[in-house]
Amino acid sequence: MARSLFEDVPGQEDAVALLRSALVSPVHAYLFVGPEGCGIRTAAKDFAAALLCREGGCGECNDCERVRSGFHPDLTVLERAGASYAIEDVRSLTGIAQRRPLEATRTVIIIPEAELMGLSAPALLKTLEEPATTTVFLLLANEIPREMATIRSRCVEVPFKALSIRTIATWLTNNGVEEEIAESLAEGSAGDAERALLLANDEGFVQRLSLWRHVPDVLDGSGSTAAELAIEVQGSLSESIAPLVTVHEAEIAFLEEQAKAMGERGIPKRKELTDRHKREEKRYLTTELIAGLGVLSRRYRDRLIAAEREGGPGSPETIRNYMASIDAISRLSTSLRRNPRQLLAIERLFLELS
Ligand SMILES: [Zn+2]
Repeated sequence: MARSLFEDVPGQEDAVALLRSALVSPVHAYLFVGPEGCGIRTAAKDFAAALLCREGGCGECNDCERVRSGFHPDLTVLERAGASYAIEDVRSLTGIAQRRPLEATRTVIIIPEAELMGLSAPALLKTLEEPATTTVFLLLANEIPREMATIRSRCVEVPFKALSIRTIATWLTNNGVEEEIAESLAEGSAGDAERALLLANDEGFVQRLSLWRHVPDVLDGSGSTAAELAIEVQGSLSESIAPLVTVHEAEIAFLEEQAKAMGERGIPKRKELTDRHKREEKRYLTTELIAGLGVLSRRYRDRLIAAEREGGPGSPETIRNYMASIDAISRLSTSLRRNPRQLLAIERLFLELS
C-alpha cells in the first residue's frame, strides 16, 4: 500500500518540517541524529525518495518505491561488515559522490550508524568535501562521538526526539488500529515505531506481553520457579524474531530478482547484507527484552502506587520491596545493550524479584 512520505515517522514534527523545507534547496550533507528507534532510518529513506522522485516525493511512483526498498541507481546505502566501517568502503564513496546521477537529478548517499566511522572518519571527511553539486549525503547517527566533530560541522543537523509510548499509541490509533491493541503494541514497541508495525503482524505478541505482565504473580520465592520462568521468557524471545526474519527474507528475494533482471550473478555485497540482517536481528531481540522489562517495571509501579495510596494495602517493607524491584529492572534494562548473556541475567533478576 502506498504511504505518503514521512507518514511512518510519528512524533517528529520538527524534524519532518525541517526536511520538508530543505527540499526546496537541499544542501550537500545532512546529519540525522536521534536515539535508537526514533525513526531516522525511515525518515532518511523518505527524504531520499523526495530527492530522487520525479514528482518531488509523491510516495506512490516507481522512483519512490525503489528508493524505499533501497534499490535505485542513484541511491547508495553504505554497508559495513564488522564493528566499524572499512576505510576502502568509505573511499569507494568518493567516486559515487563525484559522478553524475544516472536517472534522477541527484545522487543520494545514505550512511547509517555514522557514529561507527571510527578510523575511517578522515576518509569520509575528504569525501564530504569534494562531491558533485548534485550529490546529497545523509548521515545517520544515534549519537555524535568526539571524532565526528569536524564531520558534524560540514552537515546540517536534523535532531530527532526519543518517542514516547503515548506518541506511538496515538499514531497507531490514527492508522486504524483499535485503541486497546494500539496501547499494547506501543507498550511492546519500546518507543520504536518500525518495531510497532512489525508487532502488529506478529501473532505471538499478545502472548509474550501477557507472559511479562504475569511475572510478578508467578514468582513465589523459589529458585526453580525463577529459573523456569527465565527459560520460558527466553523461549518467547527466540520466537519473537520471526516477523523480522520474514522481512529480511523478502528483502533478499527482492534484491535477487533485481540483480537477475540487471544480468548480475548475485546480490552485490551479500556478506554486508547478511551481516546487517544479523545485527538487526540481535538488536531486535535486545529491544524485545527491554520492552518486556518495561512492561514488568510498570506492573511493579502500579503496585507501588496502589500501596502508597492512603489507606492502601502496603506496609513500609512492601513499598521498599517494590522500589527495589523497579530499581533492579531498570539496572538490567540499561546494561542490556552491552550485555548479551541474557538468560543468566533474566534468571538473576527473577530471583531478585522473588
Ligand atoms: Zn514518487
